[in-house]
Amino acid sequence: MPSFDDTAFRAEVRRFLHEHLPADMAQRGRTDVHPTRADMLGITALLARKGWSVPHWPTAYGGPGWTPLQRQVFEEELMMAGAPPNNIQGVSLVGPVVYTYGTDAQKARFLPPIREGRTFWAQGFSEPNAGSDLASLRTRAVRDGDHYVVDGQKIWTSQAMLADWLFCLVRTDPAAKAQRGISFLLIPLDAPGITVRPIVSIDEGESLCEVFLEGVRVPADHLIGEEGRGWDYAKFLLGNERVATAEVPRNKRNLAALVTMATRARRGRAALIDDPVFRDRVTQAEIDLRALEAAAVATLEAGDDSALTPSALKLQGCELLQRILGLQVETLGAHGAVFHPHDTFQQADGTRSGPDWAPGVTAEFLFRRAATIYGGSNEVQRNIIAKLLFSGQRPAPPARDESQTMLEQSAQRFAAPQRAPATRRARIAGGAATARAGWAHLCKTGFTALGIDEALGGMGGSSADQAVLFEALGRNLSLDPVAGCAVAPAALLAAADWPPEQRAALLGEIIEGRQIVAFADLDFAQFGLAHLDFAPPERAHPEFADPERAVPERAAPGRAAPGRADPERADPERANGGPSCRPESDGTWVLEGHCHVIPGGAIADAFLVTARSAHSGDCGVFLVERGAPGVQCADGRAIDGQPLADLALRGVRVAAASVVLAPGPAAHAALGAARDRITALSCADAVAAMDEALWITVDYLGTRRQFGAALADFQALRHRIADMYAELAMARAAARLAVTALDGPAAERSRYASLAKVRVARAGAFVGAQAIQLHGGIGMTDECAIGHYYKRLFAFERIGGDTHAHARRFAALG
Ligand SMILES: Cc1cc2nc3c(=O)[nH]c(=O)nc-3n(C[C@H](O)[C@H](O)[C@H](O)COP(=O)(O)OP(=O)(O)OC[C@H]3O[C@@H](n4cnc5c(N)ncnc54)[C@H](O)[C@@H]3O)c2cc1C
Repeated sequence: MPSFDDTAFRAEVRRFLHEHLPADMAQRGRTDVHPTRADMLGITALLARKGWSVPHWPTAYGGPGWTPLQRQVFEEELMMAGAPPNNIQGVSLVGPVVYTYGTDAQKARFLPPIREGRTFWAQGFSEPNAGSDLASLRTRAVRDGDHYVVDGQKIWTSQAMLADWLFCLVRTDPAAKAQRGISFLLIPLDAPGITVRPIVSIDEGESLCEVFLEGVRVPADHLIGEEGRGWDYAKFLLGNERVATAEVPRNKRNLAALVTMATRARRGRAALIDDPVFRDRVTQAEIDLRALEAAAVATLEAGDDSALTPSALKLQGCELLQRILGLQVETLGAHGAVFHPHDTFQQADGTRSGPDWAPGVTAEFLFRRAATIYGGSNEVQRNIIAKLLFSGQRPAPPARDESQTMLEQSAQRFAAPQRAPATRRARIAGGAATARAGWAHLCKTGFTALGIDEALGGMGGSSADQAVLFEALGRNLSLDPVAGCAVAPAALLAAADWPPEQRAALLGEIIEGRQIVAFADLDFAQFGLAHLDFAPPERAHPEFADPERAVPERAAPGRAAPGRADPERADPERANGGPSCRPESDGTWVLEGHCHVIPGGAIADAFLVTARSAHSGDCGVFLVERGAPGVQCADGRAIDGQPLADLALRGVRVAAASVVLAPGPAAHAALGAARDRITALSCADAVAAMDEALWITVDYLGTRRQFGAALADFQALRHRIADMYAELAMARAAARLAVTALDGPAAERSRYASLAKVRVARAGAFVGAQAIQLHGGIGMTDECAIGHYYKRLFAFERIGGDTHAHARRFAALG
């Protein structure tokens, strides 16, 4: 399941924290920007009693042996419970360096006190003149017998005034090339010659420090690994830090708190959360967080040690952190500007100024301006991503089994010839006849049978297999309407209330291409997907629900909420622009209305039309021949060349035998499943198109020269590429989430399909537009492939429900 849950494990962690985390510690953890030493060591000691204090460490050093998923759940539960940070510098940063590169004696000496919450560490890397350019650090360590003598200054050393030890980068060989002369030294902060001076930060709190080192004698056996290799150990440490700074658990806690705050905050007589503009911003933040979480878990599970995706996670995670905290401040109105960092700002008469959730909110917002600076600033992350991409590095390919690899190869062989602009132009110019010939060619490959049960005449295959096919179609800009003319009909016919032989006969014709049937669904954007599906039976993700908020009574499928008129029922044709249906006494049905922008419609012999009963408000699905009396078909094509049609139905009579799904709950369920499937697979298609657009642009910047240099040498353009990559990474994670959810419970499936549509479309709009921009004038031409990718992403965003409709649906299903 894609919910990143491990229910029993989560419950165990939650129970433990509920029973053992002191209430006052949890309260401070929720509101105090700068935790105390006692709390940070206290939480480690508390967790150590359960064997949970060092979740990332190998079992040989006391780690619990959890999976990446369990570690993620654990971090989340700590955050949600209000636990203070679990000695990050000790547990997450220096501990792994010691057990990976330290001697046995160092492991025995340093690891147990970290694990048991007995020593607190600080990180001494940055210096006044060595920030982003850390390798230019100047703090000197000179060997003197069995000691090093250290002189220099560190700055921004978090919590050094509370710490016992400093892990420190020092220069041991000034003659060596910058990175090579650096060593990694462990320095006790009570050593003579050390002065720690706190720095007041923007929130008027204290945790940052300057550390002055004057003639500090450090035993030589405090050196980690080899002298001069400190940079390698630091890179290892910073890699771990980057994944942690994706800040998924903190973002989850902040989002949950935001929902609570916005539910309690009033604007006039309404709750702020009910303001549609504010609510949309919260919804978009939740969508981004879900995609970020999926990308973070996938990176951890893949054990990918390249900095490429972790840097993208850091970029996106920290920007999201600041956005959510900004929304929290907005819930305070004018009180957001009041200084009450810890405790409530009291009036003279003892009454409170501002809402009771105000303490700490603005202070946290101010302090987290640093999130895009520490751990390697976001600009530096962009530099890292661009450097790797321009040196030819690519993200690890997705895990494929043998049959998926074969499928990928054959889909690529099939689709690649369609990709050249001249071929595409010829195919589009050939109109329906050429498109039908192309479809016949596709049917011969057997791809139309993929994902259809063998019992129904298909070739079987999972949702992930179907995604492999769609990726090849998207990457090569295929014009074949596989979603609309194969996947959707198969999904609907599989649920049809027909005799098995009738179902098998039509499916067989569709698979072999003897009949082309297009899915003529309601216009999602106009109609609003949230109204199309069943009412969600329960909230899928209760952690973002406010427990004190009454859940409004929901309408049953197609019916008005209690006490409200249902405009769609009153006049379905006018309300949604989609067809209506009404039963006749002889068992036939009559359809009236219009369907717009039907993928594959221009080459279809028949249509599976969604129509709503004027009587009950429920939807049904009807098989309508192109040439049937009363049917008028206007053929056209989408902006990216895919065949489309609009359909007008005027008193079209459908025989009982052609009623695929009579209006009612079964039809709703089947329609929901079909829509989610084509949405998720279209997302896989769009991600592959986006991926290709990015690499084409990377290659172009490497070859195109201006001002005597390759465009790839200009940082403004390199950063643009890095942002495109980060967006792509989030889109890819969202699409995978949606594909995985296709086989899960309906509410979760629909929610993730809509999430993916919003996230992939937003990324696609960005990547597509930037790809054109970075090509300059040539990107505007029909000759250049990039414009074709742009138009595919543009069409994807609009067809099958736009991002507004899907964002509303995501929120409604939450
Ligand atoms: C709250 C907080 C906690 C911290 N905790 C610690 C700690 O515990 N231990 C520790 O060692 N350090 C710590 N730091 C320091 C942190 O790692 C540095 O602040 C960071 O590396 C940036 O260095 P700088 O502040 O010198 O900024 P600079 O490097 O001077 O950068 C200034 C600006 O220029 C940009 N910039 C710099 N170089 C480039 C480039 N090549 N291309 C494009 N843009 C560039 C930066 O992104 C930034 O926007 C902390 C910092 C903060 C704010």
